[in-house]
Amino acid sequence: MNNLRNIRIDTATGTAYVEAGASLGEFYYKIIKSSNVHGFPAGLCPTLGIGGHFSGGGYGHMIRKFGLSVDHIIDAQVVDYQGRILNRKSMGEDLFWAIRGGGGANFAVVLSYTVKLVPVPETVTVFNVQRFLADNLTDVVYKWQSVMKDIDENLFIRLLLQPANDPKNPNNLTVGVTFISHFLGDAKTLVNLLNTELPELGIKKEDCQELSWSKALLFWLNYDTESPLEVLLNRTLNVNYLKRKSDYVQTPIEKQHLELLWKKIIQLGKSGLVFNSYGGRMNEIADTATPFPHRKGNLFKIQYSISWKEEGQETDDKNVGILREMYEFMTPYVSQNPRGAFLNYRDIDIGVTQNWTYKEGEVYGKKYFMGNFDRLVKIKSMVDPHNFFRYEQSIPIGDYYM
Ligand SMILES: Cc1cc2nc3c(=O)[nH]c(=O)nc-3n(C[C@H](O)[C@H](O)[C@H](O)COP(=O)(O)OP(=O)(O)OC[C@H]3O[C@@H](n4cnc5c(N)ncnc54)[C@H](O)[C@@H]3O)c2cc1C
Repeated sequence: MNNLRNIRIDTATGTAYVEAGASLGEFYYKIIKSSNVHGFPAGLCPTLGIGGHFSGGGYGHMIRKFGLSVDHIIDAQVVDYQGRILNRKSMGEDLFWAIRGGGGANFAVVLSYTVKLVPVPETVTVFNVQRFLADNLTDVVYKWQSVMKDIDENLFIRLLLQPANDPKNPNNLTVGVTFISHFLGDAKTLVNLLNTELPELGIKKEDCQELSWSKALLFWLNYDTESPLEVLLNRTLNVNYLKRKSDYVQTPIEKQHLELLWKKIIQLGKSGLVFNSYGGRMNEIADTATPFPHRKGNLFKIQYSISWKEEGQETDDKNVGILREMYEFMTPYVSQNPRGAFLNYRDIDIGVTQNWTYKEGEVYGKKYFMGNFDRLVKIKSMVDPHNFFRYEQSIPIGDYYM
């Protein structure tokens, strides 16, 4: 897909054409170069390929305001298993629905997407503050869980939970939670909002930076905000090995259980959790609008994360094993029956198929797609009846549809 990287921005209609082999950074770069009042709601890593990223939903720091990347796709070109090039009209609404979050390499090869851009203000506000156990961490995290559901949808706050050393007591390993925020508005409004809704976090004007949307993007991607925009064009990811898992939380985790989580984080010593706030626009889009089902009712998504450098370190007692232990520990506090999972954090622990039967496929398929899984199976059976596109977690052809 490397050769399919054309991007065209049309500011007059607020739309963009992007080929599936472009990286997210290339796409952001073109948008920013064309307009300072348009943006796009997508992920926070510039090296991601548009094709794979959109195929699983695509979320980022504007999820509460605008939902997912797939909520903004208005047309696409695909090649089906017979080699036919189809657009929205010729592929029909079923296939068009399926490729907006139903997983890559399942139905067709996507060549390009046409998307609607979103309006962004000229000034946005960001902050990155860290709190430790010795601060009022449990109170803040407890309150954050329920506040974010209904708070102003211009606000997104991500929490990174890790073992850390508190500078106030550097010899003891404790838990540090970093609160990273993006607000589509000015600092004064943000501080007033948080002092009313989440005063426990204690955000002050000095914690905030007012930036253009593009500089805020660099901030979120961990670049110096004065870096040239060309850093977005770098297609190399500086991570050797990683494992990610995911969960959805629908009921706030009680304070006494958060205290247990802190102990677990310290005990395991390595894994990290990322809590990504939902609510806002995600509450308004129907679960069936696209294959991505984790909308209303979810307070936040957890990403379990571990990365390592040396080959061969993924064994049960090391990195991957540590992450699995944390996932196991979280079982009582997350969604159940099925336990939801985010497709873009592919996780073969939750099930794989060897025979592409419905029975095997529903084990992981219902975790990723919930009630939308059956419709995906039906569409797969129609558009790829010989199961040309397949892999260990692809959508099976329904035995009972054949
Ligand atoms: C460092 C890092 C940060 C991330 N951050 C985010 C984030 O902020 N938000 C988020 O939502 N996700 C995030 N992700 C997850 C990311 O969206 C997925 O890993 C996604 O699959 C990446 O797509 P890709 O095209 O780069 O990967 P690939 O592995 O190339 O593709 C993924 C899957 O899609 C298929 N595919 C790719 N292109 C096409 C196409 N054109 N047509 C049909 N099928 C295709 C592939 O065959 C494969 O099955 C992150 C991942 C990493 C590694």
